[in-house]
Amino acid sequence: MIIPEHILKAIDLLNSAGYEAYLVGGCVRDALLGVQPKDYDITTSALPEQTKAVFNGYHVIETGIKHGTVTVVIDHSPIEITTYRVDQEYLDHRHPENVVFTTSLKEDLARRDFTINAMAYHPKEGLIDYYDGKKDLDTCTIRCVGDPKERFNEDALRILRALRFASRFDSPIDIDTEKAMRKCAGLLKKISAERIAAELNEILCGKGVRRILVDETEILGVPIPELLPMKGFEQNNPHHIYDVLTHSAVAVESIPPEKDLRLAALFHDIGKPFCYSEGEDGVGHFYGHAKQSEIITKRIMDRLKYDNQTKDSVLLLVKYHDLHLEENEKSIKRLLRKIGPEMFDKLILLYCADNLAQSPAYRDRQEGYDRLSAIAEKILSEEQCFSLKDLAVNGSDLIRMGYRPGPALGEILDKLLTKVIDGKLNNDKEELTRYIEKHFRP
Ligand code: ATP
Ligand code: MG
Repeated sequence: MIIPEHILKAIDLLNSAGYEAYLVGGCVRDALLGVQPKDYDITTSALPEQTKAVFNGYHVIETGIKHGTVTVVIDHSPIEITTYRVDQEYLDHRHPENVVFTTSLKEDLARRDFTINAMAYHPKEGLIDYYDGKKDLDTCTIRCVGDPKERFNEDALRILRALRFASRFDSPIDIDTEKAMRKCAGLLKKISAERIAAELNEILCGKGVRRILVDETEILGVPIPELLPMKGFEQNNPHHIYDVLTHSAVAVESIPPEKDLRLAALFHDIGKPFCYSEGEDGVGHFYGHAKQSEIITKRIMDRLKYDNQTKDSVLLLVKYHDLHLEENEKSIKRLLRKIGPEMFDKLILLYCADNLAQSPAYRDRQEGYDRLSAIAEKILSEEQCFSLKDLAVNGSDLIRMGYRPGPALGEILDKLLTKVIDGKLNNDKEELTRYIEKHFRP
């Protein structure tokens, strides 16, 4: 295991002062998988005050001193150092009532959620693996340390953490662990909105997400009951080969792993079960489902307390996912005006993913999406006018021409922009000025 210098230094300083210190948790797991760890956590027999004394002279932050964690900054890099502890009595299915420090590494590892997260490593001693984490890591199996039902009862967030790791590593969940997750899923009602959202984001960005969404709908349906009607809802339409849930899961898997894109793919058809109608030919239709999906998505994202930026982006993508775009500059400039180039690109990604989740008979549409992107690129590279800031006249010009400031100015500019986008006027200052003088009274 290759360990950065400043981490080795921290372990060495603790050891030299007579304390045990090990790397622990995610960094050991990731290093064994050959993945670059996000961060390195150290667990130690030193009490927080003792840790602080060891790092006297360094910048030390009391991150969570009550839980035994201090952050030490070495060579400009922060390291979290936590005292060995056992968690006692979880009364609210989330937070231990109080934390008790211990001198036993084995006890500290026992409180950790899954075997693959319960290994420790020391540069001289090598791997410490009391709970067979390495064996599970070879198959990436997600298995609780100890009795799964007890562990999920202590802290229900672990149910979503299990889904997070199963999705990230596209790995199986041990049967007893999975059974307990399903049994205890109701406890997820106790978990805060922010934590649910954070785990959902991680689950959605994992490579095993499709299977998790389809197989664990009942668990996810506790915090997001709106997902449940999608499951098994047949579409009866030649465009589709999957029920609404599987279609959405395949769309999620087919779009790049960015939070807002994946949320949009998950929710884009969530309104479908409420918009179903059947033609006389028996073909299913979902008129108005984009609007319905937008309404439901907003409700979910408000409830899960998503930040406004993510919410705006996802809602816009859901709203427009079904929009028919003509392959010409005018149609694309109109959309660019409405949503801007960044959201345009994201919307095309959603079109592609949505299409990849439909019947293979309609896959030829992918080329059409490439053509739409190419037209947008051309518009941007030629710096063609599609927004008010590109327009050759602005509000100050109008005021200079004697028009009074106020909302009327905006209306004039909007009308001009429409004419320019539609090719009825050139984006030329003189031409626009002449048009204004002729058509609008100051
Ligand atoms: P990631 O790479 O996503 O950060 P991680 O395993 O490091 O994964 P963290 O949430 O950073 O996950 O937690 C660090 C370690 O703390 C875990 O590996 C696990 O040993 C332990 N842990 C974290 N949350 C819990 C929990 N709710 N219950 C039990 N142990 C936990
Ligand atoms: Mg971590």
